[in-house]
Amino acid sequence: MTAPIHTTNLPQSLLQATEPIEHLLETASLYLHVPFCHTRCHYCDFNTFAGLLPLREPYVRALLQEIALVGEQSRQPDGRLRRSRTVFFGGGTPSLLTVNQLTRLLHACFASFAIDADAEITMEANPGTLSLEQLKGIRSAGINRLSMGAQSFDAGLLKTLGRIHSPEEITQAVQSARAAGFTSLNLDFMFGLPDQTMQHWQQTLDQALALRPEHLSLYSLIIEEGTPFFDWVHAGNIIPGDEDLCADMYEYADERLRSEGYINYEISNWALPGHHSRHNLTYWQNLPYLGLGTGAASSFANHRFSNERDPDTYIKLVKSGQRPTVEDELVEKEQAMSETAFLGLRTAMGIHLPTFEQRFHQTFAAFVGDRLHFVDQAGLLEESEDWLRLSTRGRLLGNEVFLRLLPD
Ligand code: SF4
Repeated sequence: MTAPIHTTNLPQSLLQATEPIEHLLETASLYLHVPFCHTRCHYCDFNTFAGLLPLREPYVRALLQEIALVGEQSRQPDGRLRRSRTVFFGGGTPSLLTVNQLTRLLHACFASFAIDADAEITMEANPGTLSLEQLKGIRSAGINRLSMGAQSFDAGLLKTLGRIHSPEEITQAVQSARAAGFTSLNLDFMFGLPDQTMQHWQQTLDQALALRPEHLSLYSLIIEEGTPFFDWVHAGNIIPGDEDLCADMYEYADERLRSEGYINYEISNWALPGHHSRHNLTYWQNLPYLGLGTGAASSFANHRFSNERDPDTYIKLVKSGQRPTVEDELVEKEQAMSETAFLGLRTAMGIHLPTFEQRFHQTFAAFVGDRLHFVDQAGLLEESEDWLRLSTRGRLLGNEVFLRLLPD
């Protein structure tokens, strides 16, 4: 699918590196995985489990232990706690934890890491699991951003997806979040769903925009192996939206959102000025992050590693004092350069060339060599004020540009 990003009108706060790269490389964003869901949605292949709610407290205790362990092991060389600019409770459904459990986890993060006073602290939530009382509790605990998996305002489509909430519960959840004091909300929606028409999509966007969330993430449906959707598609029981319809839906959404003041700062993400997700930008700028909990992935100190995926085994490993890491890969400099370029070019800002050079002690031009000449001549890139980004034509050709530009 083509994915145009409009780079005009980006706020300076997003375009400029906010801090020198050497400072940012010393930080680590924190991701805490909560692997519990009421039921499994029909399209989902995340590391989440239904029917394991009795494990919540033992899991939280193990996570508390892992936070302390990783905090200790990731201290700065001079012994100071590792600085963190963002904390993200993801899942799964973190809103299935009690306020007490979420508060303990957050306190543990503050005890084991040097978390910025103005840190972005996000919790993912399922609109069918939220009450006003709970929202007030988590807001008081320090969570200042809520990301809700709304997916659609069409009751029939929500049922097809296997979601547990109704369209009305999305609106109620947003109203309760506002009443609880949240001023930074993200809503996720999906397009390209089976039997979803352009009219469904337009109505969903109308209702979403009426709630004026600060951030919207719009994803096209991907049929993942091992999910009920995969089996149903192969049996011919459901037919996802075709590529052309998906492209039309994306373009419609982009134009509509931009006309309402949202900035498309990454392929699938739009934000009102000042409300881009700092946590997700950590990933797209290839900055360090530490993932805690089952299956969580980390990128830290030139290593990429991930945790045991099974909650029972994870709890046992942590309880016995072991690190629950199961995979660990050294990231060579060349690979880190390629990934930084690839991830940067997916964003509206592109690659900040002086930062790239500072970070890798090599210019981007020297890194890509003759390949840059070819891509440049074809008009696939544009450069302005130290930033290199895909041109409109480059964006339309998407993966082709990455293949031609970056080493294998
Ligand atoms: S609520 Fe989210 S994490 Fe849980 S099964 Fe559904 S899509 Fe997956």
